[in-house]
Amino acid sequence: MPPSEQAGAVLHVDLDALAGNYRCLRRAAAGATCAAVVKADGYGLGAAEIAGTLWAAGCRDYFVAHAFEGAALRAALPDATIYVLHGAMPGAEAGLPLHGLIPVLNSLGQVDAWAGLARARGGLDAVLQIDTGMNRVGLPPAEVAALRDDPARLDGIRVRYVISHLACAEDAGGAMNAEQLAAFRKLKAELPAAPASLANSSGIFLGPDYHFDLVRPGVALYGVNPTPGRPNPMAEVVRLEGRILQLREIDRPQTVGYGAAYQAAGPRRIATVPVGYADGYLRCLGNQAYACIGGVRVQVAGRVSMDLITLDVTDAPPSALRVGAPVDLIGGGVPIDEVAAWAGTIGYELLTGLGHRYHRSFHRGGA
Ligand SMILES: *Cc1c(COP(=O)(O)O)cnc(C)c1O
Repeated sequence: MPPSEQAGAVLHVDLDALAGNYRCLRRAAAGATCAAVVKADGYGLGAAEIAGTLWAAGCRDYFVAHAFEGAALRAALPDATIYVLHGAMPGAEAGLPLHGLIPVLNSLGQVDAWAGLARARGGLDAVLQIDTGMNRVGLPPAEVAALRDDPARLDGIRVRYVISHLACAEDAGGAMNAEQLAAFRKLKAELPAAPASLANSSGIFLGPDYHFDLVRPGVALYGVNPTPGRPNPMAEVVRLEGRILQLREIDRPQTVGYGAAYQAAGPRRIATVPVGYADGYLRCLGNQAYACIGGVRVQVAGRVSMDLITLDVTDAPPSALRVGAPVDLIGGGVPIDEVAAWAGTIGYELLTGLGHRYHRSFHRGGA
């Protein structure tokens, strides 16, 4: 990680806001256990810092995607319960118990392989995922029926939870949520009795019918709005603060950057910030996005380069324009959900694409 004085931008992560968001989600799903999804390095923010903060806030259950993510998390959280969403790749099953990882079993093949290991070890924990409409991972109805007809295939496995995943949870008015809820109840009843889990971040806000015994929020913990189209109930966690590298005046019609994609018809003031698509500031934000300087929104002028962006700062307060001065690129004056919309994407992709050239500053205890 570059020292802050060398970095082109500082990525501020507000761990107090993260803990507050966890408490907010836990209250919203009162009665259920509130886990935390920290896959993809804590949605790009740093899984160890994120998980340590959530542990202090009372979170004991964590989900990662890959077993190797779980092994890394285990080093930070010796006593946590860690679930691996992808389960184990064929032949890799024995690696999970080494780190106390619990697989989410997504197919009969994964069930059989895990049951074989479990019987040899005198019993192992697992989560069963059933597919209620995503057609991505999880046991489809025919495989659930196969387990119903031959429950001995599960012998040796202690089923901690039966889970499924919602395809359209952020669309509160959509018909698919209720369809998946009904399918989940029906398929779950065919399996041995176990606690249940269905809701991701947005699913929590669909109401108590969706909470079951455990909820699995990810993105809302990190401040992305789980209720698009309605006010964001979450506190902001991430602020990407770039710094002005250079300022220049344009005094006649000229263009800015690659492809001459920004055309200044007359006098303009341009600020260059050393953040580009190699840092996860998506190229499609060129001529689309806004940043915020001195409380005023300024537009990205022209294309995003690999390591630089140019901003038309003509309307920014002159007192905020000097080399080294801060510019909000994500968060602050430009909320992450808005930046994502300018890029035609979602906050998830912005977060998980954040690059490795930022100085990362973790704030806790108000400091
Ligand atoms: C990623 C993931 C989550 C968390 O989803 P968010 O929308 O980020 O809250 C929950 N469950 C499963 C199965 C996931 O893959």
